[in-house]
Amino acid sequence: MKEYKMLINGQLVAGATSIEVINPANEQLVAHCPVASEAQLDEAVAAANAAFPAWAAHSYAERGALIKQLCGAIADNAEEFAQLLTQEQGKPLAAARDEVMFAQYFANYFAEQTIEPELLSEDDNQRLEVLRRPLGVVAGICPWNFPLLITLYKLAPALVAGNTLIIKPAPTTPLTSLRLAEFAAEIFPAGVVNIISDDNSLGQAITSHPGIAKISFTGSTPTGKKIMASAAGTLKRLTLELGGNDAAIVLDDVDPKAAAEGIFGASFINSGQVCIALKRLYVHDSIYDQLCAEIGALANAAVVGDGSREGVQFGPVQNRMQYQKVCDYIADAKANGNIIAGGEIPAGPGFIVPLTVVRDITDGARVVDEEPFGPVLPIVRYSDLDDAIARANASEFGLGGSVWSSNPERAHAVAEQLDTGTVWINQHCAFGPNIPFPPAKQSGLGVEWGREGLLEFTAMKVININKAYSNPVH
Ligand code: NAD
Repeated sequence: MKEYKMLINGQLVAGATSIEVINPANEQLVAHCPVASEAQLDEAVAAANAAFPAWAAHSYAERGALIKQLCGAIADNAEEFAQLLTQEQGKPLAAARDEVMFAQYFANYFAEQTIEPELLSEDDNQRLEVLRRPLGVVAGICPWNFPLLITLYKLAPALVAGNTLIIKPAPTTPLTSLRLAEFAAEIFPAGVVNIISDDNSLGQAITSHPGIAKISFTGSTPTGKKIMASAAGTLKRLTLELGGNDAAIVLDDVDPKAAAEGIFGASFINSGQVCIALKRLYVHDSIYDQLCAEIGALANAAVVGDGSREGVQFGPVQNRMQYQKVCDYIADAKANGNIIAGGEIPAGPGFIVPLTVVRDITDGARVVDEEPFGPVLPIVRYSDLDDAIARANASEFGLGGSVWSSNPERAHAVAEQLDTGTVWINQHCAFGPNIPFPPAKQSGLGVEWGREGLLEFTAMKVININKAYSNPVH
């Protein structure tokens, strides 16, 4: 069995202890994962701080070239990364291959970015310049739904902007990040990239660490709140991409057959374990039965199982704790609505949950109001559009939302009223490295991706020059 190591100060090192990484499709051991001690965290932070001045002094192009080299190493070993991703995360191989490709796409995009000084204004008396400089050591804390993609889309903008980095993957999906560490060790100067893994115990020590300037976190809203509290002592910069409960509103002018596939895909992508998956579907009364039937049929036809098997389209829920939660949400769906697909959990081993669609359910049920983060979609009936918008907005979350309509003006008018960071029209869950991804309400703080996302890895600095000043002649 392969031995995985962490990357600290340019060296691949064992942890203080280790934990098991389990394949969620069959609950078999994939590998052991090192668990860093607080002393090892301190070493990584010290190394990242020591490496910072030299790294920050490089040009964007020089830093970008090394990021591209890392992407090249992923590309050369893409199939191995995809297989490993399927083993640790559970997603089908085709989806794992897509993630490996997308991870490179995001990282290569940021590798090519630069931030030039900006001349704000200049006249005879005053010249105002706005500069951006790196923050220092950034810690990226990642979840388990897209382990490689999320590691890369934190690593690339943080590094290209001139910061040094500590990455901490989720304890149930550390292996692709630790494999990446082996390539990063060869490519980056010691201390620039550190990758450490844990057993869920290091969060507090990272987020309160005086040697870390910024936390870029993707994960749940409760953990995001803990991070804010813990980071307050050192006033760290924070980017928090947290939970979501994205609503989609389907207007009465939609052809149910045409819309069903897009809605189905956005609901069950990665077995529903996506922050911006479509999680609540509000459908106008006039097309409710038809759209429910279409989506139910797609879910019933889907092949769910071990992602390494040929023909499997949807993998298991990633870990036992999440599996238990999803099973509870399905019980809630059964109690409060009519199940038209899935609903019956097969006996283990493995955290396989069939794609579940529940109709005749409404707001107030937990599966509608909360974020299941698994393969279960509630379909809610509405008759008054304003009421549907109000219900969609009555959530503490505000990540994404969508409107489905054949009338662009009507769709846009609804989009303007949704209280979320992103609103899609006739699609959902579409994203890219060039598109800013801003959360609203308790879905987070700050922005990832796009120009704004890159700027979050920098501090603004103003140089304000008095041009009228002249030295007295000596
Ligand atoms: P989680 O919050 O439990 O864990 C995420 C990471 O935080 C892990 O690496 C974990 O070890 C670490 N962590 C745990 N306790 C910590 C603490 N006290 N301080 C610092 N770090 C700590 O989330 P999860 O269960 O891995 O992921 C699922 C959640 O993530 C869902 O709510 C989902 O919506 C959200 N998510 C959001 C986005 C987004 O971009 N908004 C993307 C993916 C997932």
